[in-house]
Amino acid sequence: MAVSSHTSVKPRGGVVTLADRCPLFGQRRPLVVYLCGVVALGLVVLAFSIAASDVRGTDVLTFTALMLCGAACIEATRRLGMPAGVSRDLLSAWWLPVALLLPPVYALLAPIPLQILLQKRVRETVVYRRVFSSAAIGLAGYATSTLFHLVVGDPSALTAGAGGPILMAIGCAVVFTVLNTALIAVAAHTADPESSWREVLWDRESLTLDVVELCLGVLVTITCKLGLPLLLLALPPVVLLQRSLLHAQLQAAARTDAKTGLLNAAAWQREADTEIGRARRTGETLALLIIDIDHFKRVNDNYGHLIGDQVLIGVAAMLRSQLRDYDVVGRFGGEEFVVLLPRTDTVEARRVAERLRSRIARMAVPVDETMLSVTVSTGIAIMSVHGDDLIELLAAADLALYRAKELGRDRVCLPAIPPARPPGAQPAPG
Ligand code: GH3
Ligand code: MG
Ligand code: MG
Repeated sequence: MAVSSHTSVKPRGGVVTLADRCPLFGQRRPLVVYLCGVVALGLVVLAFSIAASDVRGTDVLTFTALMLCGAACIEATRRLGMPAGVSRDLLSAWWLPVALLLPPVYALLAPIPLQILLQKRVRETVVYRRVFSSAAIGLAGYATSTLFHLVVGDPSALTAGAGGPILMAIGCAVVFTVLNTALIAVAAHTADPESSWREVLWDRESLTLDVVELCLGVLVTITCKLGLPLLLLALPPVVLLQRSLLHAQLQAAARTDAKTGLLNAAAWQREADTEIGRARRTGETLALLIIDIDHFKRVNDNYGHLIGDQVLIGVAAMLRSQLRDYDVVGRFGGEEFVVLLPRTDTVEARRVAERLRSRIARMAVPVDETMLSVTVSTGIAIMSVHGDDLIELLAAADLALYRAKELGRDRVCLPAIPPARPPGAQPAPG
């Protein structure tokens, strides 16, 4: 999970503001306070733990071995790249053993070298995100480590054959996941108070990944306790899992428009083509909508691109929330969205388009002291009436959209049907 998507803004009028130099200060005030608070807490706990810890050679050796495994994992998957924005990895497989086997101070230190490596070798992102991630993982690890050492005492109990300590390790791994997720979810919700808690906390996919990470973390912990050289056996399967996870995320990212989370134009066209083929085979009705925000340039000119982006994100979220799971929604470009409505005839398509139009018109984006709202114009095309394939339907919907704009915007239009020729009449010359 990511804190919030940072959009770069070109300094207007050549004035470089504090937010341009340090993107953290361009974020909402409550978010800045929260991020700084978590990082400050991490630093204070780190300072106290360093002062109170004894350095033991075997601990340093275990820590170094686990960090080297983490680094090897990052290096082995580096060439695949990392999807922008929200992304997941399996690095908990390395910092969970640090938390369970070593004194708590190591759990605070562990994310630092790996986040630096990610920043330098995989993807350079805004530094405050890396710093916050390190603090959040470090604090979650610190609490987990303190709890585990309190209830189990000596981590050697993990390899003594009794089930109790292993169950405790699993319980502590759950604590680690819950704390880490909660710290990041609060940041995501503070960045975007409109988002639902469910959205920023868990979905089925991330829950599955959490379980995989937890299992891997506990297995690597036991392996590591049995003997450091055994980490060489654990490394290849973790690398392979990490690679397949990244691959799946990159594939999903290649289909998605990064700003709105909708399908991008190419992916939408592929899915729309498939749906149209199916409708042609089954003879079902199908409708296509092109939705264009009215006078969007003025929004950018008057309020800036960042607010413009918020409007795009809001419209996209509204479209997603108002449509059925099997409707195909995409961002076609700029401020233009496309929707394919399977099993929908003219009456139903008009009804849906009108509902979207009025919902979007009622939607408000907060700007300083006021609320900003926009309207949309929509062109509709119906399969077999206005076209038989995607190109024809898009062309017809585009003509209808043009009509909607000509007639004054904030409305839904179908293509103008040419007047029917009386029976037996000859076509007009030319
Ligand atoms: P109309 O009612 O005729 O559609 O007018 P319009 O101003 O909406 O249309 P126009 O094509 O003149 O302007 C579209 C604007 O959308 C211009 C472009 O800068 C802006 N735009 C395109 N993509 C983005 C984006 O990703 N973010 C922001 N903020 N603006 C964008
Ligand atoms: Mg427009
Ligand atoms: Mg447009």
